[in-house]
Amino acid sequence: MVYPVMSRRAGGLSIGVNLNLGQECNWACVYCEVEGLVRGTPSDIDLQRLEQELDEVLAEAVAGRWSTENAAEAARASIKDISIAGDGEPTLSPQFSDAVEICARLRERHGLRGSTKLVTITNGSRAHLPAVESGLRRLGAAGGELWFKLDGGDPSARERVNAVGVPDHRVEANLVLASAACPTWIQCMALCMDGDEPGDEEIDSRVRMIERACAAGARPAGVVIYGLARPSRQPDAHRLEPLPRARLTSIADRFERLHLPLRVFE
Ligand code: SF4
Repeated sequence: MVYPVMSRRAGGLSIGVNLNLGQECNWACVYCEVEGLVRGTPSDIDLQRLEQELDEVLAEAVAGRWSTENAAEAARASIKDISIAGDGEPTLSPQFSDAVEICARLRERHGLRGSTKLVTITNGSRAHLPAVESGLRRLGAAGGELWFKLDGGDPSARERVNAVGVPDHRVEANLVLASAACPTWIQCMALCMDGDEPGDEEIDSRVRMIERACAAGARPAGVVIYGLARPSRQPDAHRLEPLPRARLTSIADRFERLHLPLRVFE
C-alpha cells in the first residue's frame, strides 16, 4: 500500500500511496505502466493499516534509509513528496478523501510539511463527484497539489490514448472544479504511436481546450509535458516509442501562449 520510489517527476524520493490494490482503473491508457490493469473499482482498504505503513515508511525515510546523506536535515530534504497514485485511478477509491487526510496528518507528524509535497496523480474524470471534490478540497487545504491528465484535445484523441470516451465539456468542467479545490498541474503525455508523432494540430487542440477551461474559470498552476520514460505494460505497448527531446520541446513551445508555467520531462 505504501512504497518508496525514486521518481523523475518528484526529482528524488517519492513515498507512493496505492489505494488500488487490485490494479483497478476506469481508463486503460495505452502507455500505462501498471501490470495486470483491470477496469473496475477498488475494494475498501484498511485505513488503520495505511496509517501504520505510512508512519513506518516515513520514519525510515526521515532516518535516512534511502538517502545518501548522513545528516538528518539532508535525509528529510531528500523526501520530495508523498504521492497518492499507485496502480490505478486513486479517486475511484471510496476512501480517497480519508487517505488524503491520513497523508496530510502524517506529513505533519514527521515534520515534513515545509519540505515534502503532498501530491495526487489523477485522470481527472471523477473531480465532479462530491466525495472526490471533498477529497480535493482536503488536499488543497493541506497545501497539496493535483496532477490532472490531458492526453488529447478531442474525444477521438483521448479514445486512442486513454481508451475512454470523455466529452470535452466534462474534461473542461472538471479542470475548473479541480483547480478551484487545489493547485492543479495539467499533465500532457506526448508519445509516438504506430510511427506517428503527435501533429501540431493535435497539440493545439489540447491548448485550445485549456483556453476554454480557463475562460470558464479554471486556474491551472501550470502544464507538464512528459514523454514515455518507462515501458508500457499494456497489450499495445509494441505500438509506442518515446519522442525525441527536440519534439517534446517544440510541443511545449505550443503551450506558451497560455502564459502558464511549463515543465518538460523526457
Ligand atoms: S489513468 Fe493512470 S492508472 Fe489509469 S490507465 Fe491511465 S495511466 Fe493507468
